[in-house]
Amino acid sequence: MKKKALALILAFAMICAFSLSACGGGSESESAEEGSEETAKLKVVTEATFAPFEFTEDGEEEIVGFDPDMMAAIAEDQGLELEWVNMEFDSLIPALQSDQGDIICAGMNKLAGDRAEKVDFGDTYFESDLMLLVTADSDLAGIDAVTSDMKLASQIGTTGGDMVQAMKDEGKIADGVVLNQWTDCYLQLQNGEVQGVIVDKPVGEAYLNNHSDIAKFVGDSFGDHEEFAFAVQQGNTELLDKLNTGLANIKANGTYDELVDKWFS
Ligand code: GLN
Repeated sequence: MKKKALALILAFAMICAFSLSACGGGSESESAEEGSEETAKLKVVTEATFAPFEFTEDGEEEIVGFDPDMMAAIAEDQGLELEWVNMEFDSLIPALQSDQGDIICAGMNKLAGDRAEKVDFGDTYFESDLMLLVTADSDLAGIDAVTSDMKLASQIGTTGGDMVQAMKDEGKIADGVVLNQWTDCYLQLQNGEVQGVIVDKPVGEAYLNNHSDIAKFVGDSFGDHEEFAFAVQQGNTELLDKLNTGLANIKANGTYDELVDKWFS
């Protein structure tokens, strides 16, 4: 009798154990199904030597700055998942055109050249002008005082790069040196290979925060009035509407101003 009872208890215990593991498996498979519904990550392309908008700390991979913080706040507001990819500035628009990226966020002036014919820009998130950065010991009176023996540098594919090349073509300077990274432009100024760098004002200010002993702005801005905006692939109005709505929301709730204070004060 005892053996029979024991066998019944064991059988019952095995049935319970089996049914529990089956339920557990169901929840795991559900979570797996839920997992497959995770939001697809959107690829944000940028050029990360443009501090304080986007840059990497010495030796670090992570891209930090105003733009990553702003886009993270927009993504949270709109339920988007982002991943950042660093590349040369003049590769950014081709990346969207060839479906190698979903969003450009790179302090890109939406008013420049034919950019708006190639990608769809969102609402303006920052305004800026170009300035001329020179060595601290320069006696240059202003941007109109540059001489035809001077070399000026800026970044390839940017409004500053276009400016130095135009000045060269007009014979105003001896050479317009366009380089892949802003850090290379600063180095060429520091080692005397060029006599000036044409750079976006807030970016030049960030450089001067740590280098006012060797460099300075000279004269007024070039007055080219830039409007920085993120951009999406042409026709992606659904994503662009989300980004614009997110930007409006973070401006309304004070997050945008907190980020401006964090990165530009
Ligand atoms: N604002 C400039 C442009 O739009 C430079 C941008 C940059 O170097 N990231 O060309």
